Amino acid sequence: MKTEINRRKFIVGASCSLCGSLILPSCTQVPLTNRSQLNLYDNNLPIVIFQGSVGGIPIPKVYANEKSLNQEIDKVYGKFLTKAKEDNVLLDNTVESKKIETIGKEIYSSLDKYYINKKEKNPVEGFNWQFALIESETKNAWCMPGGKIAFYTGILPVCKNDDGIAAVMGHEIAHAFARHTVEKLTQSSMIQMATLGISNSRYAELLNKSFKVGNVGGNVYNSVVKYGIFLPFSRRMESEADYLGMGFMNLAGFDIKEPAKLWQRMMADQEGRMPEFMGSHPSPDNRSKKFLEWESEILDKFPQV
Ligand SMILES: [Zn+2]
Repeated sequence: MKTEINRRKFIVGASCSLCGSLILPSCTQVPLTNRSQLNLYDNNLPIVIFQGSVGGIPIPKVYANEKSLNQEIDKVYGKFLTKAKEDNVLLDNTVESKKIETIGKEIYSSLDKYYINKKEKNPVEGFNWQFALIESETKNAWCMPGGKIAFYTGILPVCKNDDGIAAVMGHEIAHAFARHTVEKLTQSSMIQMATLGISNSRYAELLNKSFKVGNVGGNVYNSVVKYGIFLPFSRRMESEADYLGMGFMNLAGFDIKEPAKLWQRMMADQEGRMPEFMGSHPSPDNRSKKFLEWESEILDKFPQV
């Protein structure tokens, strides 16, 4: 019964927002790269993800706006830290953990300065950046929306030096800066909504307008899978995070020759198994080349602040 009410509430909410914007603005642009990005929040629409069902009715999880999403992520990250502390794997006040924090801070404050110099508003000025170092063999690092970052000690030997850490850090900060998770949630949300037939036509219309995949009204999910929107998008996001990350590193005065070297080390370090950090990062060879291609553009576009 409770679910039913939530669902109705949501439908009313979504309809109001839709009526409020007769002309759907659809795509916005990622700052600094100007890639077109679909973000429901920029369209004044909530992100709704359905999880399981009660009595055949899917349970919607509504993230009303970016602020409330980030508040939720804050809690999730807090729980992650508490659990890590309980398990004695949260490295606090060690030389390495301080280094992670310092490098993270250097990069995000350089980004701040960059926008101050440009006399523009930093698109992520409200973010409450946090950094954690976890004792684990996992060769990985990640960033949650709103700037919640974690490094695993396993990736440190691959990073090798401060510039290597800055390369991974820049990449993670870039994911948050470009709001890649919101973009992914937007895609999932719209596909689920359209597939479930909730606000079908409007969401499908927006999806269609944004991705130009032809007539998607009938079976959005199949069309999306068929046209491979998800996969290329993920690759584009990764590549965008590489590019922006390299720019952010340079703002903070780190050596932008390091990312290409870092990817070479990652490849050499495979030991027959893909490092976790590379799991979602296709064509490492290709990416190493990209860093070299971008060098002069980065120096020009992202001068040290
Ligand atoms: Zn990534």
